[in-house]
Amino acid sequence: MFSFKFETDNDLMMSRNYNDLLKFKLNDEGCRTTSSNEQEKVEKNVLLLYKLNKEPILDRHKHIKFLKKSLIYLTTNYECLDSSRPWLCYWILHSLQILNERLDDKIYSNIVKFLSKCQSQHGGFGGGPGQLPHLATTYAAVNALYIIGTKEAYEAINRNTLVQFLISLHGEDGSFSMHYDGEADIRGAYCALSVAKLTDTFTPEIFNGTAKWIQRCQTWEGGFGGCPGMEAHGGYALCGLASLVLLGKTDLCNLTSLIRWAVNKQMLLEGGFQGRTNKLVDGCYSFWHGGIFPIIHAILLKQNPNLKLKYWLFDQNALQEYLLICCQDSDGGLLDKPEKGRDVYHTCYALSGLSVAQNSECPVINGPQDINSVNPIQPVYNLELSTVMNGLAYFKL
Ligand SMILES: [Zn+2]
Repeated sequence: MFSFKFETDNDLMMSRNYNDLLKFKLNDEGCRTTSSNEQEKVEKNVLLLYKLNKEPILDRHKHIKFLKKSLIYLTTNYECLDSSRPWLCYWILHSLQILNERLDDKIYSNIVKFLSKCQSQHGGFGGGPGQLPHLATTYAAVNALYIIGTKEAYEAINRNTLVQFLISLHGEDGSFSMHYDGEADIRGAYCALSVAKLTDTFTPEIFNGTAKWIQRCQTWEGGFGGCPGMEAHGGYALCGLASLVLLGKTDLCNLTSLIRWAVNKQMLLEGGFQGRTNKLVDGCYSFWHGGIFPIIHAILLKQNPNLKLKYWLFDQNALQEYLLICCQDSDGGLLDKPEKGRDVYHTCYALSGLSVAQNSECPVINGPQDINSVNPIQPVYNLELSTVMNGLAYFKL
């Protein structure tokens, strides 16, 4: 389909060509359903793009332009995210950082001031000024402040009230509610752990019972559900596994069953990941699923330091191909799948997935390296590597 160079001894990393992909078309065995119709439609769109045989090129400058514009102006499509404004900051800043683009100090300072207005006097950050503090927007705000990485940004976080906020959401069974009187699910535990670790406010007492509760979220399929008894899902799986890492309890995860589930979520024809069994491919799962693999890799190496693993346990080349050929908007920004619109959420998680797919121990860059290469991320927090190191060093002092 296109040429790229692979200096590898790994049999799993092979070039895909158009005719080979045709073998992976859905076989509905004569039983048409809504799901099979949708899957066929996606395959048709993806194959049309793959047939063009274009070289996969990251439209870096267009993405940067789209992201910078989104920081000051959003279309009315984003109105529903009025209670997710720290998320918008994080998605945009993280995407820019993956693309190695810094903004002016003044802009960063303005973002810090805005996020400070979202911080509740009772601890944690809300979706906008004056809104109820919520664990998801707290995670997004802390990550955004980490990316800005100035003293002003770090000091904007009130760690004393943050701890009180976390304690107030901790349930007797170890779970965390997303907000006061809100639903408890695995996102809550993950967001609480992430911000506690990043701000060096973690104590085992705050997370009493949490590891066991997360273990109960692993399903018969091998992935993690939102809470015990729910269906395995890419986003929840990343939250579950990353939480066990942050708790130092990865031994509670059934790794064999997680690996079997995770590898089977990469779509053979499309190259990207689906979020759940029998669902369609989606660019954002490039991170939610893709990010699981470096963590699995680290756990396997810890169990057996002599293991020779230079690549992640998925087809890194195929994922990059899906993102670069099928998920780039011609005006900048990335998307879920062909025929869908771009948005900053999908731009963030598609680029995060691209970073994961490139940055294995032995790097795998699909397309021209000088154009396509992006910064490495730390998948447990989904922050750029040096950002994590700088922030942790600041708070440990
Ligand atoms: Zn998506």
